[in-house]
Amino acid sequence: MVGTGTPVRRLSSPMRMASRLFEGRTVRAAGGGPIWIAYVSTIGVRPGTAGTRAGHAAAPYTVVGVQVLQNAPLAPLTTLRLGGPARRLVTATTDDEVVAAVREADAAGEPLLLLGGGSNLVIGDAGFDGTVLRIATRGFELDGTRLELAAGEVWADVVARTVASGLAGVEFLAGIPGSAGATPVQNVGAYGQEVAETITEVVAYDRQAGETVVLTNAECAFSYRHSRFKADPNRYVVLRVRFALEDAAGQSSPVKYAEVARTLGVAAGERVDLATAAGTVLELRAGKGMVLDPEDHDTWSAGSFFTNPVLTAEQYAAFTARLDGLTAPAFPAPDGRTKTSAAWLIDKAGFTKGYGTGRATLSTKHTLALTNRGSASTEDLLALAREVRDGVRAAFGVELVNEPVMVGVAL
Ligand SMILES: Cc1cc2nc3c(=O)[nH]c(=O)nc-3n(C[C@H](O)[C@H](O)[C@H](O)COP(=O)(O)OP(=O)(O)OC[C@H]3O[C@@H](n4cnc5c(N)ncnc54)[C@H](O)[C@@H]3O)c2cc1C
Repeated sequence: MVGTGTPVRRLSSPMRMASRLFEGRTVRAAGGGPIWIAYVSTIGVRPGTAGTRAGHAAAPYTVVGVQVLQNAPLAPLTTLRLGGPARRLVTATTDDEVVAAVREADAAGEPLLLLGGGSNLVIGDAGFDGTVLRIATRGFELDGTRLELAAGEVWADVVARTVASGLAGVEFLAGIPGSAGATPVQNVGAYGQEVAETITEVVAYDRQAGETVVLTNAECAFSYRHSRFKADPNRYVVLRVRFALEDAAGQSSPVKYAEVARTLGVAAGERVDLATAAGTVLELRAGKGMVLDPEDHDTWSAGSFFTNPVLTAEQYAAFTARLDGLTAPAFPAPDGRTKTSAAWLIDKAGFTKGYGTGRATLSTKHTLALTNRGSASTEDLLALAREVRDGVRAAFGVELVNEPVMVGVAL
């Protein structure tokens, strides 16, 4: 499937030298046409597939060292399997390679897109006219209850390892796809837990300052599905994430989420066995198509497509006035605001599970996931997203906002 060359030593200017050695080699991407290796450091590619472990989109290339491909398909690197090609796709496996690739792109004034597991991205059909930097670094260092992760670690694997180590703090985040480095970006959360509760520091390359910085939890400015990194998307490249976990003698953090408590048959606030907590979450998630399964098109999504609306007191009053006897979910949010459920709004606006007849439909398991049934384009998906957003606005006067990051497209 993949052309390779004879292994070579790492060279002082690896990119330039390897360019001469490997330029012009053909790699056949799974499901796509041939693409060209521009230059590769060390051996560059070897046969096989990468990223097929739980939590990442299946990638058609296996990478050793920095790899640079031109006109490389991005769809196989996203969980939606959507998006056109990258003019240049760089895969970096060490922090130094990541920083060097970012510096190179910035110095050249080249548009740069950071890519982890591709599970929160909607990439336009035209692709990305610039450099896509795929962060494939590895590192899981556990010291007591302190954990340091390289950005490219697969998050679902990380949770499994912390649970196996008997440590609490991220067990309710089991089964969430993507990379560790992306978790601070949108303050990943589920089932009553979010990474903001356990992240102590983020080590990032600051593109503005041109240096590596360490940001404390407070400096990350975490809020619901948001952070400093999301607010300022072209500034920071997350290299490492540090967590303080809890040794609760094999017990989980206190159960907060009503559905989890109900399923476990415990009261909110109780602790349960760690593995049981993670296993219960995985079962609940799987029932909603929220655990990646290549065979199941309900999981060809970016997870929740819309964030739960957080309404000011005034907006909430206007919203409830339109409910016409219905009772919407309502949860207290900071600053006197109220969070309601995007899934509920979508359902009650008439977009029930499986809605749509085209190549992109709502998941048959969860109204909040917009899915590619196998042959959709990004435009198909966006047309559905606009229909849902407009329908909810017409029914309830509430504006839904997309959770995934849009690349070259807008709702
Ligand atoms: C089936 C499914 C279920 C999901 N369930 C949940 C859920 O329960 N809760 C939840 O919060 N999310 C959920 N998600 C969304 C997604 O998994 C998370 O947002 C995840 O953290 C994205 O990680 P990623 O590596 O795939 O990021 P990508 O999709 O590759 O990138 C997302 C954004 O982060 C940026 N980025 C990536 N890596 C870095 C880095 N190292 N430094 C700086 N920026 C970076 C990218 O440029 C992009 O802007 C789900 C997605 C799917 C497909």
